[in-house]
Amino acid sequence: MNFDNLKNKLSSCADCPLCDTRTNIVIGEGVLPTNLLLIGEAPGKNEDEQGRPFIGRSGKLLDEMLAEVGLSRDVNVYITNICKCRPPDNRDPKPSERRACLKHLEKQIDIIQPKIIVCVGRIAAQVLIDKAFSVTKQHGEFIVKGEYIYTATFHPASVLRNKHQRPLVMQDFEKIKNALDLY
Ligand code: URA
Repeated sequence: MNFDNLKNKLSSCADCPLCDTRTNIVIGEGVLPTNLLLIGEAPGKNEDEQGRPFIGRSGKLLDEMLAEVGLSRDVNVYITNICKCRPPDNRDPKPSERRACLKHLEKQIDIIQPKIIVCVGRIAAQVLIDKAFSVTKQHGEFIVKGEYIYTATFHPASVLRNKHQRPLVMQDFEKIKNALDLY
C-alpha cells in the first residue's frame, strides 16, 4: 500500500465512534519522504475543522521550537497523531480508540520508514514506546524498538502551561537533529 491508497482508505474510516463526531479526518502533514516523524495525541478543535495537525496555539509553539533547530514540516519533518479524529471536548482518546487507529498509524510508519520517531507527549509515548513511559523522567532518551528508533518529548500544550519545559524540549530537539545528521 502506498500513501495515496492509505489516505483514500482513511478518508472514509469508520473503525471507531470518533468518526461520528469528526468534521475532518487529520491524516498528517509535512514532507515525504522524511527521516523524522513526529507523532502527537489526537486532533483538537482547529485541527478537526481544517483537517491539518498541530495548527492551534500548541502547534504554533511546536513549529517555533522545531524551527530553532532547523526542522520544519515544510522542509524535513512529517507530523501526525496516534488518533486521526478529534475526541469530543478534547478528552484523551480512549484505549479502544487508540487501538482502532494504531493499525493505520503502523501502516503510515511503514510507508514513511523514518529514521527517528518522536512521540510528542505522554499519550504517544505510552502507546508507542512503553505504557509506563514517563516523559518527565525519560524525555530525550533514544529507544530502539523493532525497526525504528523512538524518542519522546513534552507536548507543546504542556510547554504552554509549564514554561520551564521549553529548554528541555529544545535540548531534545537539538539531540534529535544531531542524531539525524549522524544516521
Ligand atoms: N495536539 C495534538 O496532540 N495533536 C494535534 O494535532 C493538535 C494538538
